Amino acid sequence: MDSRTHRRSFVRSLGGGTLATMAAGAAEVEARKVLLYESTRKEFREAIESGTLKAVIVPTGSTEQHNEHLAMINDTASVTLVAQKAALLVYPKVMVATPVPVGISPHWMDRKGTLTLTRETFLAVVFEICESLQAHGVKNILVLNGHGGNVLPLRQSVPEFARKLGIRIETNSYWDAYTPEIVKKYMVSGKAPGHAAEFETSFAMAAFPERIHWEGVDYDKIKPHLRIKDPKSAIQEEEFAREAKLATAAKGEAMIDIAVKWTAGRLRQICEGG
Ligand SMILES: [Zn+2]
Repeated sequence: MDSRTHRRSFVRSLGGGTLATMAAGAAEVEARKVLLYESTRKEFREAIESGTLKAVIVPTGSTEQHNEHLAMINDTASVTLVAQKAALLVYPKVMVATPVPVGISPHWMDRKGTLTLTRETFLAVVFEICESLQAHGVKNILVLNGHGGNVLPLRQSVPEFARKLGIRIETNSYWDAYTPEIVKKYMVSGKAPGHAAEFETSFAMAAFPERIHWEGVDYDKIKPHLRIKDPKSAIQEEEFAREAKLATAAKGEAMIDIAVKWTAGRLRQICEGG
């Protein structure tokens, strides 16, 4: 691979390919500018020391099986995209920290490829990222989550992180944006987020179709060989595999847009101390 090809695929893997620039208010903003990990220390220092930077998002995802057709990085990629787009809407007040790419996924360990952290390790990583940000003067953090297994541990622990560090830290999953009415309106299956089903496949079709691989997938044929331990989980997975066929890019776009605007609203609240 030559260096130009490498550069291109690297940019795409960051979600930068579809987000070269985006309007924030009247000006065109380079999408990189809201990513802490794509900024230089000079850019970050100037943003924090001038008081322009009010809050940082810490995205948390997973690397786990997403049935037969979706890439395992799906949750991390999804939450990072929502975080980046939301930060662009409130530019220059918010930056996105490096996402936590492995979550708490012991429930998927009987499916090949899943990586998991224990609750303690995952929470320690999130805490130490928040601690690093606090050390640099960040006063407000939104831990924005994109994986089901992380939800409860984050809800239970983030208030304690805030107390320990003496700053404001809150947590939401990006799908907290979806009221039952929204889910009913856009999802034929009536479910979001689900798992590798209608919602996540629609999201991926809209955001990163290169992470969907239907070629050679024959779920019915492979099913007996999967050796899924919990029969209930096997039934649910089969349902999700069927529901994935209901996905469209248009539904994904609508759902992403709702999550981005909702997250931007949360960020405005946090920045304004509301
Ligand atoms: Zn997922």
